[in-house]
Amino acid sequence: MGRKAVQIPVFLVNRRQMDYLNPPERMRFLHPEAVRRWAEERRRRREEDEGEPLQGLDVAPWDSYQEVVAVGLYVAQLDGAQKQELLRLAEGDPEEEVLRRHNGPAIFLCPERILSWAGREGVNPNLVLDKVYYHELGHALMDTGPTPYGELWGRIVEESLANWVAYRRFQGQEARWVQRLIQGEPAEYQGYLAVEEGFVFLGDRKTLAKWDWYTRHLWRHLWYKLWERGYGFLDRGLPPLLPGLPLPMQGEAGAYNFRLWREAKRQKWFRDPDVVRTYAGFAEELLLRAVD
Ligand SMILES: [Zn+2]
Repeated sequence: MGRKAVQIPVFLVNRRQMDYLNPPERMRFLHPEAVRRWAEERRRRREEDEGEPLQGLDVAPWDSYQEVVAVGLYVAQLDGAQKQELLRLAEGDPEEEVLRRHNGPAIFLCPERILSWAGREGVNPNLVLDKVYYHELGHALMDTGPTPYGELWGRIVEESLANWVAYRRFQGQEARWVQRLIQGEPAEYQGYLAVEEGFVFLGDRKTLAKWDWYTRHLWRHLWYKLWERGYGFLDRGLPPLLPGLPLPMQGEAGAYNFRLWREAKRQKWFRDPDVVRTYAGFAEELLLRAVD
């Protein structure tokens, strides 16, 4: 994380620049009421038949989230026209020249929105700044290949993992404040604790490159499967479960799922409909647990 952090510059932008980078068509979210209704219905229907994950859910314009979402942004690469427009909107900001010369990934933070968010929640602005920065750094770390962010399931997984990265940087009272901040974010962002509650399993070939991770976590995954009926997905050819295996550690499931998501992008596994189905199920589970 530290290496990425020193590689990627941070630009402070005003509201107009941030809204240019985050246009209104991106400001579409799951409506909290719609999610609650869907979750009720979904739990009932899952008892009888499986159906499609996230069926009947859609994003809609929802202005009030702008102040907690268009606060930070990770961008893999700006084109010339975007830079031009950002410079025009900068109104003589001294960072102008740096932005003009910069190529490659960047993180944008909006101090005005950070301050007003902190004010509304009664939280130290530095804490809000750190939380927003770590969230965007999370996106940067997950930028390992083509992203399925355009799909609702992809967005739920990505935003939940980005918030998991951010949340895990804090402890004690600060972590409680961060949870409070996240509570005001859209439902797509709320699965940050649930990502630690089980292991995504994509079959016996699509695994993390490191063998030790795979074997260690496979057992733990099995525990979840047995004890929690978690959202792991078992494939074929698994060894039988031995008694006396250690119970899984929650933090490890988060780290495992985070790494697997990066690997899935890197290896372009989303071309495989089974992988898509698995992650759609994972996203649904994150959403259901978040609103529980
Ligand atoms: Zn995000």
